[in-house]
Amino acid sequence: MNTRIAKEFHWEMAHRLPFHTGGCQNVHGHSYKLWVELEGETDTNGMVLDYLDLKRAVAPLVDALDHSFLCDRADSVMVRFFAEHPLKAVMVDFPTTAENIAAYLLGEITSRLQEQCSREAWMRLRSIRVRVQETERTFAEVACLISEA
Ligand SMILES: [Zn+2]
Repeated sequence: MNTRIAKEFHWEMAHRLPFHTGGCQNVHGHSYKLWVELEGETDTNGMVLDYLDLKRAVAPLVDALDHSFLCDRADSVMVRFFAEHPLKAVMVDFPTTAENIAAYLLGEITSRLQEQCSREAWMRLRSIRVRVQETERTFAEVACLISEA
């Protein structure tokens, strides 16, 4: 039966949006919440995917971001700062909006799941959806369909 499962993850992270004309250009942080939703056919045990397999794919990504500064490589002010101060920063090639973070995580999670799942489990998946919640009132969501091979 086509079924949707989801798991929630959390991390703390700082960032800034240099292009922003309001408060978001300043260094600030969020308690990020991530929802990863998988849609697919259940196996004979009634599982779309073992939640443990989902955790194995996602947790290292979340751990890498936790208590870091997510730094756009185009942000010369912060790139210079981290060159002089060896603090935890994760360098990316995009402005660190919730939309871009969601798209980045979707790409990473999709390739990790494809790599780590059994072929049978991967073939049962139909879509992956990622929701990144930055504040109590805002989130960005992206999804991709898994093409049938
Ligand atoms: Zn922010």
